[in-house]
Amino acid sequence: MTLRQTYPYYLANRPVAANTALEVTDKYTGKVATRVALADAKAIDAAIAAAVEAQEPLRRFAPYQRQAVLEHCVARFRERYDELALALCIEAGKPIKDARGEVTRLIDTFKVAAEEAVRIDGEVVNLEISARAKGYRGFTKRVPIGPCSFISPFNFPLNLAAHKVAPAIAAGCPFVLKPASRTPIGALIIGEVLAETDLPVGAFSILPAHRDGADLFTVDERFKLLSFTGSPGVGWDLKAKAGKKKVVLELGGNAACIVDADQRDRLDYVVERLVFGAFYQSGQSCISVQRILVHEDLYAELRERFVAKVSSLVAGDPRDEKTFIGPMIDEKEASRLDGWIQEAVRSGAKLLCGGRRTGAMLEATVLENVDATQNVSCQEAFGPVALLQPYRDFDEAVRAVNDSTFGLQAGVFTYDVRKAMRAWDELEVGGVVVGDVPSFRVDNMPYGGVKDSGLGREGIRYALEDMTEIRLLVMRDP
Ligand code: NAD
Repeated sequence: MTLRQTYPYYLANRPVAANTALEVTDKYTGKVATRVALADAKAIDAAIAAAVEAQEPLRRFAPYQRQAVLEHCVARFRERYDELALALCIEAGKPIKDARGEVTRLIDTFKVAAEEAVRIDGEVVNLEISARAKGYRGFTKRVPIGPCSFISPFNFPLNLAAHKVAPAIAAGCPFVLKPASRTPIGALIIGEVLAETDLPVGAFSILPAHRDGADLFTVDERFKLLSFTGSPGVGWDLKAKAGKKKVVLELGGNAACIVDADQRDRLDYVVERLVFGAFYQSGQSCISVQRILVHEDLYAELRERFVAKVSSLVAGDPRDEKTFIGPMIDEKEASRLDGWIQEAVRSGAKLLCGGRRTGAMLEATVLENVDATQNVSCQEAFGPVALLQPYRDFDEAVRAVNDSTFGLQAGVFTYDVRKAMRAWDELEVGGVVVGDVPSFRVDNMPYGGVKDSGLGREGIRYALEDMTEIRLLVMRDP
C-alpha cells in the first residue's frame, strides 16, 4: 500500500483537481511522496459563499441525519485504517505504531461526536424571580453559530482536524478547513469520506493553501468562528486580525511533570510514562513532557533509570515497527532545537544523553541543570528533549511549574491526595493529570490551555458549546 500520486481538495463537498499542486514529502526520506491540489483565494472565497448558502439546508438536516453522517465516517475509517495510518507515517514521519494510535483516536472522536449529535439540548429557565415576571416562562435551545473557519497543525493531521470537523457536523455548522501544508493528506481523506455522505452541498470544504493566500480564513466576516490549532505566535497573531468572530485557540506549551518522593515503589512505571510522555512522536506534541521536576530524595535514582531508558530508544525509519523516535517534521525545526540544546550546554547545562543530529533526525536528549531562562526551558521545545530538575518541597515544585508563560496540562506523580488537590487548585493550566504524565488525552475530555497556551476548550461537548449559540424563548401565559 502506498499514497496515490495526487489528491484533490474538496470545495463545497466536491473533489477538485486544481492545477497548482502542493508537493508533500515523505518526512523520513525527504522525497516527494505525493501532490495535492492547492487552493487559491478565489477557491477559498467560493467555499465561504457555499458555506453561507448551506446554513439553511443544514438547519433542516436533523440530528439523526448528522449522527448518520458521523457513523458512516466511523465505519469508513475502520475500513481504511491501514491506509490512514500509512498516510500519517509518510506525511508526518510518525512512527507506525503512533500513527495507528492516531487513527484509533480519530475513530473515537467521530464516535463521541455521533453520540453528542443527538444530545444538543436546551433547558427550562425559571423566570419567576420577581413579581414582574409572574406568568413568564423561559426555554433555551442551542443553534449552530454559522460558518466556521478551521486551521489545523502538522503533528496530528487527522485527529486535530477531526476535533473541529466532527463537532461541526454534530452542531450543523458548515465549515472550511485549512490543513497544515506539510501534512494535508489525512484531512483530505476525511474529505473523501465526507463526500460519500448526504451532507447538504456547501456543508464542508477542505482546502490546503499557502499561508500567504490564507488570510480569508482569519479576516472574512462571513465566518462566525475561527478555531485554530497551532503555534502560539501564529495563533495570537490571527486572533488580533479575526474581527468580530468568536476565536478558539489551541496552542503550545512546555509541559511540566512533578514526581513526589513517595513514588519509589513504582519508579519503573513512572520512568516508563515519563519516557513515553517526553519522546512519543519525537516530542512533537503540544503536551509533551518537557520539564521533569523530581523530589531530591528520588532524583539520582530516577535520573539513572530515565537516562538508561531514553538511551535505549530505537530511532529510525517510522515504517519500522520497532521505531520509537522518527524524524522531526523537517530539518529546519530539528536544527532550531539542536541550536537551543547547544546554547543551554554552553551556558552550563549538563547533557546526560543524546544531543546529536543528522538532518531532521535529532537524538532523544536529556539535559539537567538548565537555567530557566534558556530557550530549551522557557520556550516550547516541540521535539525530543526533556529537562531534569530536582526540587526540595512541593511549594517549590508548584512554583517551578507555574514559572512559565504557558499552561496547557501538568502531571503529578504522587499518592498524597492533599498534594493532588493542591496541584489541581494551584497549577495554572487547563488540566492536571495525577498518576500520569501531562501528555494524557482522551478525546471526550475538555482540553485546552490558559496563559499563552490558548483560549477555549476542545473535546466534543466543549467544542459544541463554541459552535452553537443559546437562543432563548420567553412565553407569557395567555
Ligand atoms: P503553525 O502555527 O506553524 O501552523 C498551524 C496551522 O496554521 C497550519 O495549517 C499553518 O499552515 C497555518 N498558518 C500558519 N500561519 C498562518 C497564517 N498567517 N494564516 C493562516 N494560517 C496560517 O503550527 P505547526 O507547526 O503546524 O504545529 C505545531 C504547533 O501546534 C505547536 O506549537 C503545538 O504545540 C501546537 N499544537 C497545539 C495543540 C493543542 O491542542 N493545544 C495540538 C497540536 C499542536
